[in-house]
Amino acid sequence: MSNIRNFCIIAHIDHGKSTLADRLLEVTGTVDKRKMRDQLLDSMDLERERGITIKLTPARMSYSSKGVLYELNLIDTPGHVDFNYEVSRSLAAVEGALLLVDATQGVQAQTLANLYLALEQDLTIIPVLNKIDMPAADVPTRKRELIELLGCDENEILLASAKTGEGVPEILEAIVEKIPEPKGDPNKPLRALIFDSRYDDYQGVIANVRILDGSIKKTDDLFLIATGAEGEAVEVGFFKPEKIQCDELRAGEIGYVATAIRVIKDVRVGDTMTLTNNKAIESLKGYREVKPMVYAGIFPKEGDTYEDLRDSLGKLRLNDSSLTYDPESSTALGLGFRVGMLGMLHMEIVKERLEREFNVPIVVTTPSVAYRVTKTNGDVYTARGATDLRDPTVIFKVEEPWVRADIISRKTDIGGIMQLVQEKKGSYQTTEYIDASGRAERVLMHFELPLASIITDFYDKLKGISSGYASLSYQVLDLREADVIRLDILVAEEPVEALASIVYREDAERIGRRILVVLKDAIPREQFAIKLQACIGGKIVASERIQAFRKDVADLSGGDVTRKNKLLDKQKKGKKKMAELGHGRVDIPTEAFMKVLRQ
Ligand code: GDP
Ligand code: MG
Repeated sequence: MSNIRNFCIIAHIDHGKSTLADRLLEVTGTVDKRKMRDQLLDSMDLERERGITIKLTPARMSYSSKGVLYELNLIDTPGHVDFNYEVSRSLAAVEGALLLVDATQGVQAQTLANLYLALEQDLTIIPVLNKIDMPAADVPTRKRELIELLGCDENEILLASAKTGEGVPEILEAIVEKIPEPKGDPNKPLRALIFDSRYDDYQGVIANVRILDGSIKKTDDLFLIATGAEGEAVEVGFFKPEKIQCDELRAGEIGYVATAIRVIKDVRVGDTMTLTNNKAIESLKGYREVKPMVYAGIFPKEGDTYEDLRDSLGKLRLNDSSLTYDPESSTALGLGFRVGMLGMLHMEIVKERLEREFNVPIVVTTPSVAYRVTKTNGDVYTARGATDLRDPTVIFKVEEPWVRADIISRKTDIGGIMQLVQEKKGSYQTTEYIDASGRAERVLMHFELPLASIITDFYDKLKGISSGYASLSYQVLDLREADVIRLDILVAEEPVEALASIVYREDAERIGRRILVVLKDAIPREQFAIKLQACIGGKIVASERIQAFRKDVADLSGGDVTRKNKLLDKQKKGKKKMAELGHGRVDIPTEAFMKVLRQ
């Protein structure tokens, strides 16, 4: 019998996963009270600043119950929909999940989405109502919701406060009692599931693994079944949550293996690690391939950092396997990459991580979903941005991805949400009550919407309409025909590739106008007037003008009249030359791009 229990915590964002992880680490004495800080497992600066979990993080704890010592392996997971892939990978490495629900908020859209992921993996679910210390906690209502959702008994629902620690010992007991011990055979050849990885300059790729069968020791020669790569276990260990070396990782355990592999693409999340001289034949079921939801061009801000950007993307991908990228070139921005990501928050995080962790300043172009384009000659291709939609005359039809969106909100918000979905070209499907007692104040609504509508400002608007109450999750459904076109933005009569976007035909003019207004504000004046134009298929649909400014030469004080005249003269000549050319080269500040993209 094994005394190992592997589990993760799943919840909607902000329901208290990371705080509960803190308490578990504290109560089990894993982390010294002096070293304790809030949301300890959120170790990235970015996570701490934003108060969100981006990466899954494992930690091992020792816990003794009724005289028996247990090894508990916890994986803390993110709650935001963009990071679902992190969640699904964590789930494949464990046998049970604490389903944490904020007792003041109740079941939310991501609670459901994560629960369904856990059920797909056949995990044992332990429901926990958190934040019961708060006056707004409504335990009876939330219990009814959970019973409805899980079909569990009332007494199976644990009550806790991750803040005060109340109920935490009961959670530990439930983990030991209810979550099954890991299956797997310690005497079979090694099979270890790689669920995460990162690059270390000294040790090569470090893989986070769940050992299913067998064991691995330091100095063992290792082999990765899918990529065929070979390496050496230069170090093995576990997280506490800092790295702790150990002699061996055995069946059932979670830990890390430093592989000495330096070719980043040789190590793939979802691959199975085995030993060179005692190979397992059959690989483990890996992960479903993630499909990017949005694409954006990422270019180095300075031309000579292209190689750095390529290296950095490679390393970032090791740690963020939902990222995809292909080379792309643009006349305006030079060589860069078309990067596929899981959503807008993911895009922001990717940008920040590249700039902070890898120190490469970048420009990100207007994000776009992937469209399926059928040409008049029957050829089909994928357009992942305005660049791929240049020539409208050869296009027969364009199809766009649609999602099924689940929104949980108060009954009183139904009207507003319906209207928003309609504005966003979506359609209403059905509504369910969150608990069947008839007293429910909250509902679960199902909609179908174009993915493009969701990735823009949908979430912000939803939060606005519902005073923050509504929550959202979505998954891709199918492709449907869309009346979209490429919108070009011209600055000083030059098309700016990075500002081109794919928009619905009926919105083109409005969006064009809006972009021009932003640009008008964000581009500094020059000595010549700057024309700003929005254009579809060669037709101008909106225009603006940035007035020329006259350098303050005329106001130069002091008596040197000749110098002043000379300068004025020079200025006039310059202006004439520009006027002759019809335009002047305008440097568009990166802030201007960012302002437009933020729209
Ligand atoms: P996560 O997004 O699920 O990881 O949530 P966090 O652990 O980051 O918690 C979100 C917020 O809720 C933080 O401000 C926590 O301090 C707070 N919080 C978490 N658990 C409790 C609790 O039991 N009681 C109270 N009052 N606040 C809590
Ligand atoms: Mg967290």
